[in-house]
Amino acid sequence: MLLYNTLGYEIQEFTPITAGKVSFYGCGPTVYNYAHLGNLRAYVTHDMLTRVLRYAGYDVQHIMNVTDIGHLSGDNDEGDDKMVKSAAERGKSVLEVANFYTSAFFADMDRLNIRRPDVICKATEHIDEMIVLIKRIEANGFTYSAGGNLYFDITKFPAYGKMARLRLDEQKAGARTSVDEHKRNPHDFVLWFTKSKFENQALLWDSPWGRGYPGWHIECSAMSIKYLGEQFDIHAGGIDHIAIHHTNEIAQSEAATGKHPWVKFWVHNEFLVLDRGKMSKSTGGFITLQALLDAGYDPLDYRYFLLGGHYRTQLQFSYEALDGARNARKAIVDRIRSLSDKTGEAPVQVTNKKAAAYLAAFKAAIENDLATPRALAELWRLLKDTGIPKTEALAVAFSMDEVLGLKLKDAIKEEAPSLDIEYIERCIAERAAAKKARDFAKADAIRTDLKAHGIMLEDSPAGTVWRSMG
Ligand code: AMP
Ligand code: ZN
Repeated sequence: MLLYNTLGYEIQEFTPITAGKVSFYGCGPTVYNYAHLGNLRAYVTHDMLTRVLRYAGYDVQHIMNVTDIGHLSGDNDEGDDKMVKSAAERGKSVLEVANFYTSAFFADMDRLNIRRPDVICKATEHIDEMIVLIKRIEANGFTYSAGGNLYFDITKFPAYGKMARLRLDEQKAGARTSVDEHKRNPHDFVLWFTKSKFENQALLWDSPWGRGYPGWHIECSAMSIKYLGEQFDIHAGGIDHIAIHHTNEIAQSEAATGKHPWVKFWVHNEFLVLDRGKMSKSTGGFITLQALLDAGYDPLDYRYFLLGGHYRTQLQFSYEALDGARNARKAIVDRIRSLSDKTGEAPVQVTNKKAAAYLAAFKAAIENDLATPRALAELWRLLKDTGIPKTEALAVAFSMDEVLGLKLKDAIKEEAPSLDIEYIERCIAERAAAKKARDFAKADAIRTDLKAHGIMLEDSPAGTVWRSMG
C-alpha cells in the first residue's frame, strides 16, 4: 500500500511497525460548536483511511480524541479558550456545551456513515496522563517556567519544526510572533497553564506546577501514547495542523520518550473551501451538515462529493457541485436497484474476467494513496458494463462499497424511496387536470416521475389507481 507521508513530502510504501496491525490516531473535534463541512472532510478522510487499511487486511486500531478543554482560538496559545468562550456566550457550563456538541458531532458522523473509532477519548478524562507526560518532558530538561506557566523550550529540541520545514531563524521576527512576553522563543508553547488567562476558567486541576489546565497540544500526545504506545504507525489531521499542532506534538512526545520517530506516517487532508475562502468554525459563516439536510440533500450526497476529490487536493464546495454528486449517487443507487433480483445476499463468486478486473483496478486505486476519484470511476465502469452477470456486478459493487461507504446494500433493502400517499394523490389529481387541459406532455411527465419512484398508475373507467411496484 502506498501512502503520502508528510514527514518526507512523498508517497511511500506503507508498512506497519507490527506486521498485520495498524495503530492510527486522528485528531478529533473541539466540541464548542457544530462541525462544519470542512471539519467533516477530515473525518471522512480518516474513515476512508481506516476502511482502506481494513480492506487491505490490516487489523486497525483507530483512536480519536474529543477536545473539551484547552484549545485556544490561536493554536499558538493566543486568544480565548474556545470551550470557555462558547459556554459564556451561550450561558451554559463548559460541560453542557461539550456534551451537546459531542452528541451533534457523532450524529453527523453516523449520517455520513463514518465508522466509529475504536477508542474515543476526552481530554478532560486524561488530565492525569497529560501530567505524567509533562513530568517526563520536564525531567528530560525540555521545559521552563515563566509567568506561572510551564513552557516547552524548542531550543532544547533541535529537530523542532522539521516536518513542517519551518525556518526558525526567519520566522523568529516574522509571521508567528507571540504576544506572550514569557515565551523565550515565539515557537515555545505552553504545556501547562497555571495563571489562567481567563477569569471564568471553569475547569482547573491540581498539578506539580500549580492549579491550572493543560495546553492543547499535550492532549493528543498523552492520549495517543496511552492507547497506541510510544511509537505508532499513522497520525492524521488537516493540513492546518502541520505547522503548529503536529509540530508541537512531535517535539513534546519525542522529548518525553526519547524515541524517534514518534509516528511513522503523517497523513494530512487538504482543505474544503467556500467560494469566499476557507471555511472556519471560529470566524462563523460556516455550513453544517444539517444545513444540507434542511436543503433536501442526503448526507451521503456530501460523502460522495468528498470522495470525488482526492484528499490531498483542495476542494471547493458549492451547491452546484453538490447537485452533481447527488445526481451521480442517485444514478448509482438506481443502477444497483436494477441489478438486484432480490434473491438475497448469498456471497457470489466473481468469475467474470471484466468484473474481476474492475475490482482489481479499484483496489489498486485505493491502495495508491487513497485515490477515491479513480476508485469511483471503477465503480462506474462496472455499473455501466452490461456484459457482466447481474449478481456478479452486484457482488463487486458491494465489495467496493465496503470502502466507499455509500450504503449501497441499503439501497436494495429499502424499496425505492416511498412517497407519501398524499403526494401521490396530489400528483394523480394534477395529472387528471393536465389531461383535461390536453397537456399530455405534462401528464406523461407526472406518470414517468412516479414510475421512477416505483409507483405505477393505471387508468380505469372509475378513475386512476396506483400501485407500488416494490
Ligand atoms: P477543529 O475542530 O477545529 O480542531 O478541527 C477538526 C479537524 O478539521 C482538524 O483535523 C482540522 O485540521 C480540520 N479542518 C478544519 N477546517 C477544515 C477545512 N476547511 N477543510 C478540511 N479540514 C478542516
Ligand atoms: Zn491533535
